[in-house]
Amino acid sequence: MLQGNEEILEAKKHIIEVARELHEIGLLVRTWGNVSQRIDDKSFLITPSGIKYEDLTADMIVKVNIDDLSYEGDILPSTEKCVHAACYKEREDVDFIIHTHQVYASCVGTLGIKKVFSYLDDEDVEIPVAAFALPGSEKLVENTVKAIKKFPDCNGFIMSNHGTLCFGKNSKEAIYEAEKMEVACNNFLIDVCKTDIKHGVEFGFNSHLENGEIVYDIPDTPKRVRHIHELIYAKRKDVKYIIHNKSEAVMTVSRRANHMRPLLYDFAQLIGVSVKVPSNEHGKDGMSYHNIKKNVNVVFSLYDGAYCLGASYDDAMDVADVLDKGCIAHVAVMRHGEGHFLSLLECLKMNRFYRKSYSKRSEIVKK
Ligand SMILES: [Zn+2]
Repeated sequence: MLQGNEEILEAKKHIIEVARELHEIGLLVRTWGNVSQRIDDKSFLITPSGIKYEDLTADMIVKVNIDDLSYEGDILPSTEKCVHAACYKEREDVDFIIHTHQVYASCVGTLGIKKVFSYLDDEDVEIPVAAFALPGSEKLVENTVKAIKKFPDCNGFIMSNHGTLCFGKNSKEAIYEAEKMEVACNNFLIDVCKTDIKHGVEFGFNSHLENGEIVYDIPDTPKRVRHIHELIYAKRKDVKYIIHNKSEAVMTVSRRANHMRPLLYDFAQLIGVSVKVPSNEHGKDGMSYHNIKKNVNVVFSLYDGAYCLGASYDDAMDVADVLDKGCIAHVAVMRHGEGHFLSLLECLKMNRFYRKSYSKRSEIVKK
């Protein structure tokens, strides 16, 4: 139990340090994921909703009541506070929780399996997988409680099609759990799904708008590619940056005509509810590039990766990053032979909610 304002302030600073550390090692992306610490029997501190980790300050960390989820102050706590509260209630020994959207564990969480058996060095690792439910929903809390009750000795589990929840007595134990899961899940993808793919973004031909003119990163960008960039900017007035991602996972998906339904929650939010790799991407006239769509932030190019769209460089990079993870999941599910896809309705709900709250959020940051 923490006493006095001094100790609480230290705890808030520690939460920020942990969030930044997780962000740096790539376990948290954008504003997804959250970190919390129990401070007494009745309450915990948690990172706020929708603020980038680099902008966090101690006064933005919110105190939340474990029983009724009421919170102090004007800053909204993370929407996933209900999952943290459920975990603190079920596990009295837990004082620190992190929720991540880490790559390999999230991908394994799309395969439709209930438990992952894998290893880390020569240690056996068993990871429960909780069934999917919409973020912030009652059902998600239910599934969380079920997983914690069923596996009382585990310090974490995968949240199907979403991410992970990792916990422990302190931040060190929770971070260890997240890192262990990541290596064990990558081992599972390599051994069982024969999917040995490094995560990341590999640049092809990028561009951005400057005073209405298209500026290419590579001056001798071929005419064929320039044509695609021109069409994207013409059709999507909200786009100012295009990142051409040619990573291994994205290239693999772009090599066959495909209909990518989202396997992951952040894909549905940031990229769109349905992305196509058309067999005839240039349209009937060979010029029209018919897969440029409103509210779909990726344009696949057959055999040539995908163009990731954003209003800023960071936005486009986030799309490229989330697309790469989504493509690893896609390849793993194809090779595994089965997986659990998100329904169209679920995707629409998450996508709409995200666009609404993200546009509001950028207004707050601008102020
Ligand atoms: Zn999440």
